[in-house]
Amino acid sequence: MNIPNLLASQSRKFPNHEGIITPSERITYMEWDRTVNQLADSLLKRGVTKGDKVILHMPNTKEFLYTYFAVQRIGALIVPINAKLVHQEIMYILNHSDAKVFITHDLLFEQVKGMPKTGDLLYVKTGEVDGDWLSFEKLITEGSPAEIRCELTEDDEASLLYTSGTTGAPKGVVFTYRSILTVATMICIEMSMKPESRVLHMMPLSHSAQLHLFMIAGTYVGATHVLVPTFTPDLLLETVEKEKTTHFFGAPVAYLGSAKHPKIRTHDLTSMEYWVYGGAPLGEQEVLFIKEKFSTDRLMCVYGLTEAGPNGTLLGFDDQDKKAGSIGKRPALNCEIRLVNEDEEDVSQGEVGEIILRGEGNMKGYYKDPEKTQESLRGDWLYTGDMAKQDEDGFYWVVDRKKDVIISGGVNIFPQEIENILNNHPQISDVAIVGVPNPDWGETVKAYVVMEGEIENLADTCREFLKGKVADFKIPRIYEQLEALPRNATGKLLKNQLRERVEQ
Ligand code: ATP
Repeated sequence: MNIPNLLASQSRKFPNHEGIITPSERITYMEWDRTVNQLADSLLKRGVTKGDKVILHMPNTKEFLYTYFAVQRIGALIVPINAKLVHQEIMYILNHSDAKVFITHDLLFEQVKGMPKTGDLLYVKTGEVDGDWLSFEKLITEGSPAEIRCELTEDDEASLLYTSGTTGAPKGVVFTYRSILTVATMICIEMSMKPESRVLHMMPLSHSAQLHLFMIAGTYVGATHVLVPTFTPDLLLETVEKEKTTHFFGAPVAYLGSAKHPKIRTHDLTSMEYWVYGGAPLGEQEVLFIKEKFSTDRLMCVYGLTEAGPNGTLLGFDDQDKKAGSIGKRPALNCEIRLVNEDEEDVSQGEVGEIILRGEGNMKGYYKDPEKTQESLRGDWLYTGDMAKQDEDGFYWVVDRKKDVIISGGVNIFPQEIENILNNHPQISDVAIVGVPNPDWGETVKAYVVMEGEIENLADTCREFLKGKVADFKIPRIYEQLEALPRNATGKLLKNQLRERVEQ
């Protein structure tokens, strides 16, 4: 039960089956596996061995998939990092992870060109090289294609994934082969993955959702991976039609952007079996809008977090209309869910509690951070930091992240409740609610608003719109208009940056 053997076994089973499709190439499982052996052999010869960390800094390209499996084939830990990170963030991970190798892609070289180098690290890049960079292509041609077998068990460490850092400094999440394959198995079953499936990867493969849910699951069954280095609505619509893809995972913002695209109806999207979203909720109106524009009934929501694999809950096709915005009423396979209060007791139906998850998808812990690991993993349960409640039909609704809850005059205010209402205003295209320090109340509520067109008096318009829909004390006292809200590469709102703005 380990990932390197998975690819080798698929290559024997489906040698001529298309494993990877890029905008310019088609690569079979046999070719993919052979290249992985060559790269693994070269890394071994250069002293990379079991337990070493290898940073993978690449967009969604074939080289990403070669490196991912080559590193694991020799028992080293893969550390995939987001292609959009800036120099300082990359240096943080490089130092924190104790990496032995840094592998980057020509397309991203500008971001790392001038990075300070240390003598004992290997620096590798695709394309032309000079100076102290090793050529990725040369590593491949120098390696032997003979199959490499490294003795690995399911409890060996496979990877180190850094969270996106929306709630603080990025944390290094350690996964074993067991957790990754547990999550992949869940997707294979819950989303009917099969060798004929064609999985479209447009969200960064460095993120746990794209990587574990879709890449590993797809490889598990011998499916075809269609790789597109960046997301745009145009590329999404064109690629689905051209490659007849069947599975796609995207953040809600990616769906909304595509649904508003003028060409949405001119493309044939009928090959799609699973349109999956997650990372943030979608409201009822938004779900209906997307389903109508995409002409589909096959919209599914996943809830999870990197630390859980990201295994969590699912909201299936049939519940999308009446329970949109909820994360579903049952945990995904291999997972259990509870809502608990501060004393770790289960809360009653309708009461808000923290989501805790149990399952083999859960991380092993945070790298070099026993304190945070202890805080998050208590016994078998992972404390998610997400606050939720269960409705009378058993559906779970995330009300907010614990860290985003605003405490004003001793009362808890959940920003998402206010954001969801304001997002329904026809002239508001994006909104974020944060707490601002206040001497009398502890915190007071502030709204950052992105508008479509002109609104004469932003504060009055928003207040009027919220009146009667939420209690008065929840209505923001301060308003600020922004051109755009800060979001990370997966479309997630970076509230930290807004809070820093307040401090400044
Ligand atoms: P960091 O932990 O560094 O702040 P991050 O939270 O962005 O990074 P992820 O693991 O990508 O890391 O995000 C998981 C979080 O996203 C969950 O804890 C939850 O708050 C939110 N989330 C995920 N799926 C959903 C969903 N379907 N509906 C609502 N919120 C979701």
